[in-house]
Amino acid sequence: MSTSTSRIQRTPEGWRARGIANLHSHAFQRAMAGMAERQTNPEDSFWTWRETMYRFAARFDPDTLRAVAAQLYAEMLEAGYTSVCEFHYLHHAPDGRPYADPAAMSRALVAAARDAGIRLTLLPVLYMTGGFDGRALGERQKRFGHDVDAYLRLFESLHAGQDDSLRVGCALHSLRAVPADAVREVIAALPGDARLHVHIAEQLGEVQDCLAIRGARPVEWLLANTDVDARWTLVHATHLTPEETRGIAASGATVAICPTTEANLGDGLFPLRAYLDAGGAWGIGSDSHISVSPVEELRWLEYGQRLVTHHRNIAVRAGSTSVGETLLHDVAASGARSTGFDADGDHIVLDAAAPILAGATDDDVADRWIFSGNRNLVREVVVGGERVVIDGHHRDRDAIALRYARAIDALL
Ligand SMILES: [Zn+2]
Repeated sequence: MSTSTSRIQRTPEGWRARGIANLHSHAFQRAMAGMAERQTNPEDSFWTWRETMYRFAARFDPDTLRAVAAQLYAEMLEAGYTSVCEFHYLHHAPDGRPYADPAAMSRALVAAARDAGIRLTLLPVLYMTGGFDGRALGERQKRFGHDVDAYLRLFESLHAGQDDSLRVGCALHSLRAVPADAVREVIAALPGDARLHVHIAEQLGEVQDCLAIRGARPVEWLLANTDVDARWTLVHATHLTPEETRGIAASGATVAICPTTEANLGDGLFPLRAYLDAGGAWGIGSDSHISVSPVEELRWLEYGQRLVTHHRNIAVRAGSTSVGETLLHDVAASGARSTGFDADGDHIVLDAAAPILAGATDDDVADRWIFSGNRNLVREVVVGGERVVIDGHHRDRDAIALRYARAIDALL
């Protein structure tokens, strides 16, 4: 395992590490974090959570979305994320009609990323149907929807605006939301370098419906019917057979694992050990943003595996016995592939004076960072040569928080 690019280095300012790519985000959900934790019924699940999320999603406009996303992105930077893949489906006005500028909500996210100074991989989402049977979108899903032609117009108008801090890729919401022929049509129309992200096999109900209607499990279907390769990021991929696990690894795709959200929603546990054995690429996403911390994502990724296997120190690869080092190596190795950014210069500096790092060495600093304490150790963050976090504070923390508080007042 090459650790030269991912190892944390001692410098005069502190411990210097690579910035972390956040591979999966729905920014608007930051505003409802912590507000869906009351039992409405003993059968509460992802599907009942989704009802709450839909009610919330109906309230946003471009201004509130920008304010909420800027707060989220500033929090991400303070936590050590330097780029984010925004899986964006809140496209139209609440009644489903496009805004005068059909890209108004997308542009709000681009503006928010610039407000905060984070690199953004914007992934406008194609969302067409309410289920594998091809049923129309429900009332509350209407603001998410496009036909293929309108979607490609949106994609092209955004793609034309790419620059050093903005990449535009394509997201298919899920196989239940995009019919098979539309999947093929959209992929064929995309530029060759466009990243493709898709939610897949997050829920058992989704696996069962796909089997019943398409005659194959979601990942099985995707691998058989599209050319999945290194441009692809499969989000969640929670419920896999051993063949599917090996198939994703062999394809070169990245899996975006979102451990805190998957735990919060009761999704299930990704088969990490088998996937590492197959040589698979993976990264992390904060998804619903009930937590905005790469430390917590990585810690719980490993802890989930320990809880079910009754063993310790699961996520290691040949070349390192350190779990922290392996986790950081893998997220660094997949970042550029999934985001489209080659941003080697982006970095973070951990506080060398923090008691938890007292006496740390090159060999144990990664494990100490990921596996001890709850204080954020990120002191400084540099993106594209600019210091956006100084002494643990985002440079515009107060102004962004004020706009966020006003937006929350409007939303609630
Ligand atoms: Zn998601």
